[in-house]
Formats: sequence, C-alpha cells, structure tokens
Amino acid sequence: MENLLEHIWLPYTQMLNCRQPLQAASTSGSVIALADGRELIDGIASWWTACHGYNHPHIIASMRAQLETMPHVMFGGLVHEPALRLAARLADKAPGDLSKVFFVDSGSVAVEVAMKMAVQYWLNRGFAGRSRMVSFRYGYHGDTMACMAVCDPDESMHALFKDYLPKQILAEMPVDDASAQQFDALLAREKDHVAAVLIEPLVQGAGGMKMHDAATLRRVAELCAKHEVLLIADEIFVGFGRTGTFFACEQAGVVPDILCVGKGLTGGAVTLAATLARPHVYKAFLSDDPAKALMHGPTYMANPLACAAANASLDLFETEPRLEQVAAIEAQLREGLEPCRGLPGVVDVRVKGAIGAVQLASLDAPRLRHEFAERGFWIRPFGDIVYLTPAFTIERDQLAALTSAICSLLSRS
Ligand SMILES: *Cc1c(COP(=O)(O)O)cnc(C)c1O
Repeated sequence: MENLLEHIWLPYTQMLNCRQPLQAASTSGSVIALADGRELIDGIASWWTACHGYNHPHIIASMRAQLETMPHVMFGGLVHEPALRLAARLADKAPGDLSKVFFVDSGSVAVEVAMKMAVQYWLNRGFAGRSRMVSFRYGYHGDTMACMAVCDPDESMHALFKDYLPKQILAEMPVDDASAQQFDALLAREKDHVAAVLIEPLVQGAGGMKMHDAATLRRVAELCAKHEVLLIADEIFVGFGRTGTFFACEQAGVVPDILCVGKGLTGGAVTLAATLARPHVYKAFLSDDPAKALMHGPTYMANPLACAAANASLDLFETEPRLEQVAAIEAQLREGLEPCRGLPGVVDVRVKGAIGAVQLASLDAPRLRHEFAERGFWIRPFGDIVYLTPAFTIERDQLAALTSAICSLLSRS
C-alpha cells in the first residue's frame, strides 16, 4: 500500500508508528466519502466549522460568483463590498455595541489581535505595565505562541515552552461564591498589571468541553467591570449558534469589550476570522500620533472569497431554522448520550446546544478513533473526552446512529 505519510506532517500526532490517515475524497451534508469508497457519518463537522453541513449549495453558489469577479485583493488601502457587508452584518448580530470589525485569517490570529488591542488600549491611554492576560483553567485560545500562553498550562505544555512563553495569569472559573471571591481577590491584586480577561463563554471547547452556566459568565463580566479590566470573549468555538443562541454571551446578557469569531463564520467552507471591538476600545486608537494605530494586517485579511462564504452562511441563519435545529439536537444528544452515564469508566455526560461530551477516567484516543471509523463514523476523541459537535442540519437518524455508536463502543471498552 502507498505510504501517505511520505511528506505530510500531521497535527497533534506522534508520527512514529502512527496509523495511515484516512483519505477524504468528497463531502456532502453530514457525510465524508473516502477515497476507498467508504462513507463516514460526521459527528464533529470538521472541528465544528461546517454548521450547515458540507457543500451547502447557497455557500457554493456565492463563492463561485465571487471567484469569477475577484477571488482576492489586498485590504491595505482597499476595501470591497463583501467585507463591508459582512462587517456591517457582524456588528448587527454581535451583542451590544460591538461594532468595529477587524478581519484576520484564522482564529488564533483573531485572539492574537484581541490581546494586542487590549495591551495597546492601555498604552494608548497612558497606563504603563498593563500587559498581562488572565485566562481560565481548561481554556483553549489557539496554537500560536501568544495564544498558547493563555491556554490551559498543562494541555499546552507551558513547562516545556517556559523559556519562550510570556507569563500570564491562570484563574479558576468563578462557578460559586468561594471561587468568585478568589477571582475578585485575584483581579484586585493584579489589576495594575492586567490588560484583559479572556474567556470562552459557556463552553470551553478544545481544553476539555467544560461547561459553565450563564451566571458564571455574568460574574466574570461584573468583576471585570468592577476592577476595570477589559473582557475578551473568545466565541470561536461557541459562536454562530453552537450553544443555542447566535452568540453564547447573549445567554448571560454580557457584552464583552472585545469579541473573537472564527470557525463557523464561513460555515466551514474556507478560513476567515474576525476581532470585534466596542467603540470605547476603538476610540483609544484614534490619535494624531500614527504610532497609536493598530499595527496589524495579515496578507490575506478579509479575503473576498471567504467574506462571500461568510455572507452566505449568515444568509442561511436567516433563511433556515438553525437555532430550532440546535434545540432539537440538544434534546436528542441528551437522550442519546444519557445511557453512557452508567457505564464503567464514564465520569460525566454533558450537553449544551449542539455539543455533547462524554468524559472518561481515561481513554485510548487513537484506538477509539480507529474503531469509530471502522464502524462508519467520524468521531475524534481527545484527552479524556468523546464528543459530538455535528452540523446543525444533521438528520435525526444520522445523529441517532452517532450517539448509539458512542454508547455501544464505550460499553465494550
Ligand atoms: C479553534 C479555536 C481557536 C483557534 O482557531 P484557529 O482557526 O485554529 O487558529 C481559538 N479559540 C477557540 C475557542 C477555538 O475553538
């Protein structure tokens, strides 16, 4: 058999003696067709980006039209209709007065820009030394170096990279009175060094699918306001309906100072992300001094083809019943994953919106992934978690097949 790994270096993979990867040939709806002719039902929608299913005809048609007129043009000194329209629509959908949109090309860069904005916000206003970030245990904010420093320290191997990473402040999620007092005290102690608090609202995704309630998120926002530190909401995972509302912050009535979006922004068709700021943040950059401008500009920022996909994706949230679909998926995940709760080795079963997670005492991720694929399912356990983040358009029987595959495989292992 041909060795597919001759030149490719895979993500998050120990390459020594790793299995040959599966080769995808085409996608449609919630199905991935492999080059060998097999088909897999997809439970994770390509890292939860493909919220409308793969190859949605409206997204394809919009991208095709854009491809014919202008696949790309630089954003330095030029703007274009797809970006102008997308920025206005994002500002309209975002909570409160988040109205200034900075486009970037990936989620990690959206977080980098958010942190840069927060640090420079204080410098521009004449406050020196407010450069550190506070982030939460189990958080995940991207793989680039500055993002790694605000991820969970164990998961992102802070010990290994300690000579390189900026030292940030790790907090426990203020889920009750005792932890809220701790968080309050932490901000009181550190605020003169802190630029912003970073949070994944309601669900911490890649750090372990940990969930907190709206009251916790509200508490974080209130304590940030009390101690006058900026709040950055990283909705790259939870944005675009994943937790049941268009943005997760809505459920707590929270308006962060800065908001990051990515992943589902284009409906999974192509990479695009954005950092949104409220007017009071933006105003700190307005000056006669050119050095107070936001000094950032990815080469492919606001790529027109990606903006066309994102505009089409937003159309679909307006014309198709996405949030109702998420509510139905939530109910079905609760019912379908519940039988796992009693199984040996299962620590917890949690569901929020179109996110279902089964936490185990331990698991062999590569083996489980292989066994799911052998049975016709694309499910990618990581850490101690087996999870589903399906397309919102997944059919009822496809989702039922996915949840029963999880229950039956976990009952056997
Ligand atoms: C995926 C993710 C990122 C990073 O996005 P990339 O596009 O992979 O760089 C950042 N934050 C959260 C919450 C994410 O889920």
